[in-house]
Amino acid sequence: MEIRIQKIIEGLFCLEDLREVYRQALPTGLSDEEETAFGAKLAELEGIVTDIRNRTGHPRVTRIAGSIELRTREEQAINIQPIQAAGRLTPEARKALTVYGDGYSVCDACRKPFRLDKITKPPSAQFHEDLARFLNMDQARVVPGARRGFQAVTSALVEKGDTVLLSSLGHYTEYIAVEQVHGAVREIPANDRAIVTADAAAERLEACVRETGRPPVLVMCDHFDYQNANEHEVRGIAKIAHQYDVPFLYNGAYTVGVMPVDGKALGADFVVGSGHKSMASPAPSGVLAANDEYADRVFKTTTLEGDLTGRRFGIKEVQMLGCTLMGGNLVAMMASFPTVQERVTRWDEEVKKSNFFIDRLLGIEGSACVSEYPRKHALSKVDTTGSFDTVAKTHKRKGYFLSDELTRRGIVGQFAGATRQWKLSTYGLSWRRVEYLADAFDEIAEKNGLTVGR
Ligand SMILES: *Cc1c(COP(=O)(O)O)cnc(C)c1O
Repeated sequence: MEIRIQKIIEGLFCLEDLREVYRQALPTGLSDEEETAFGAKLAELEGIVTDIRNRTGHPRVTRIAGSIELRTREEQAINIQPIQAAGRLTPEARKALTVYGDGYSVCDACRKPFRLDKITKPPSAQFHEDLARFLNMDQARVVPGARRGFQAVTSALVEKGDTVLLSSLGHYTEYIAVEQVHGAVREIPANDRAIVTADAAAERLEACVRETGRPPVLVMCDHFDYQNANEHEVRGIAKIAHQYDVPFLYNGAYTVGVMPVDGKALGADFVVGSGHKSMASPAPSGVLAANDEYADRVFKTTTLEGDLTGRRFGIKEVQMLGCTLMGGNLVAMMASFPTVQERVTRWDEEVKKSNFFIDRLLGIEGSACVSEYPRKHALSKVDTTGSFDTVAKTHKRKGYFLSDELTRRGIVGQFAGATRQWKLSTYGLSWRRVEYLADAFDEIAEKNGLTVGR
């Protein structure tokens, strides 16, 4: 690791220790002992700053609390891991985490009616309104991950034995959200190009009515699935669902926060997004938005009363269990939001970079793109059975040769050992980085005797 990265981390930790002195002191100021401790830490920080300036020194801190390794992959490398690319924090989110990391930190100024989305300082209430507007939906709530958004919807809408129609390429958490409420799933098959079409949804809806006597209670589909990141006919599927009066849940785990999403235009009754996957937010975080038609059901407030005490719980929402992201997660999400709102307008450029890389990879003889091509997303599944896998067959490191070569060039996130089908994301990489990435694959190919046609 470059020593400056190590020393920046040590400097941050040292600042935390300085801060801790104040957290232990009396409000009136530091004692003599505390001043001494503060001075010692400050001298340490000055040493670290000198090391950063001169690129000197040795790693002194390698663990947190004795056992937790430092994580510096985003500083040291280009990370192409598909689920991590768009969840990388903005500097603002990291700053928010440092000052709002304490437990229930957003509750400092929580006033009646005591609900997360009503807090005005920090401006959580405003953020909730902005989120709904961002998605062009009527209401929005933050949830601990997209999966908790599915869960809130299935818990509100699905009764035991009810059917939910979902994409055969859907995420496992969609299936489990149905299982948890004892529902049944029926799948909409993808076609031979791995696309889920509105026609297929129509057929399956009709089959459901024919075979169970009634339509499903919910239809859900990913706009771009996690396997190939192919685009599915969500607008058409929503339309078909509405013909049967069935609500449509738009799964935007791979879209909300990276590309423009207009819930009304899509015909979505619910829009679910993932904060840690696509909104530059810490895990767990996400968003569930609903239109007015269904908001009352999914955001239903408590009516229960204690039988002895008669206790009631105001306007707490049942599916949210009252409040959801009560601290650093919410505030970091809020801190990234201005960047997120702006970056979705630059989606075309991200798609260009994705196609640029895939074109260069396809220039390595024997390589193929499993995802639909040209690409409409930054995430792609590629097939290098005819290129890098032929090298792996005789290489002493087998499939690991490719990850070794990539790591050596400061590229991480490719599934270690995989040389047949594997996924990557170019999301958020600058053009310089994308070119570096493409050059690296060319170099590795040439070094191993593969033909590279530019
Ligand atoms: C990642 C993913 C999810 C789960 O998202 P969480 O925010 O981790 O719950 C759901 N659906 C799809 C399509 C995904 O890619």
